[in-house]
Amino acid sequence: QTGQTLSAYDPATDGASARLRMTGDLRDAIAAGLLEVHYQPKVDPVTGDPLGAEALVRWEHPAHGRVSPEEFVPLAEHTGLIRPLTALVLDAALTACAGWRHLGHDLGVAVNLSARSLTDPGLPAQVRAALTAAGLPPDVLTLEITETAVMSDLRRSSGVLRELRGLGVRLSVDDFGTGQSSLAYLKQLPVHEVKIDKSFVMGMADDRADAAIVRATIDLGHALGLRVVAEGVEDLTTQSLLAGWGCDLVQGYHVSRPVPAPALSQWLAARST
Ligand code: C2E
Ligand code: CA
Ligand code: CA
Ligand code: CA
Repeated sequence: QTGQTLSAYDPATDGASARLRMTGDLRDAIAAGLLEVHYQPKVDPVTGDPLGAEALVRWEHPAHGRVSPEEFVPLAEHTGLIRPLTALVLDAALTACAGWRHLGHDLGVAVNLSARSLTDPGLPAQVRAALTAAGLPPDVLTLEITETAVMSDLRRSSGVLRELRGLGVRLSVDDFGTGQSSLAYLKQLPVHEVKIDKSFVMGMADDRADAAIVRATIDLGHALGLRVVAEGVEDLTTQSLLAGWGCDLVQGYHVSRPVPAPALSQWLAARST
């Protein structure tokens, strides 16, 4: 063995004991307040005006380095840690949003919900308490849900969704186009927004099929009275195409990577002068 290399946690090969250790580490990190939340702006593709920001959770593991939320969010879902994780992200996001609004930026914030949270009957009360604590009206909060999450337990999740909708928060269908029977569910779900999955957006400038899917989704969303967001916008060509097709909002590395709340405040200040 030469030297020390930081190895990333890999749930596919690391096995049950590593998973158990990671779960313990995650529990400690949540309890110690060591998870961070970064924010990525959603902007009008024509004017560049920021209308909101998506909260994305971050975990810097002391030994493994940054662990992807694609790994630890599912881990949290299966080990009872998703409720405290969601609470942490909600509180951070609403506090950050209250801060931006205090500085004069008329901005909303979006939080991702996992499948497990959508069947948690305590979630609506948790959301209401977080809004009250931050002193924010419900319509500044958007909750991003995936179709797959809703589908995994439709009966219970639609009850929670209706209650959330009743609170006055906005609902967004994330990763649109990657699930099954997307069209039928858009009609049935009480949502305000669809986000076109980045797998289509990242390819659309070079791929006719991706471009056709993106255009059709924009038109479909508008026909249903929804706001349409494209995620994964990595270059100006893509943003210009989306602007021409009437896409309401864009999000992606071309505009900004996800950054800590103070960095987003600076970004907002630089834009508004
Ligand atoms: P998502 O909700 O679809 O989030 C979009 C992902 O795309 C984020 O990855 C973001 O950093 C990344 N992204 C943004 N712009 C671009 C771009 O221009 N190009 C490319 N290639 N990627 C871009 P991230 O932060 O690693 O999050 C991955 C997933 O983890 C999220 O996918 C979401 O499903 C989940 N996640 C993240 N934070 C939370 C959270 O607080 N709660 C829950 N339940 N899930 C979360
Ligand atoms: Ca999302
Ligand atoms: Ca997404
Ligand atoms: Ca995703």
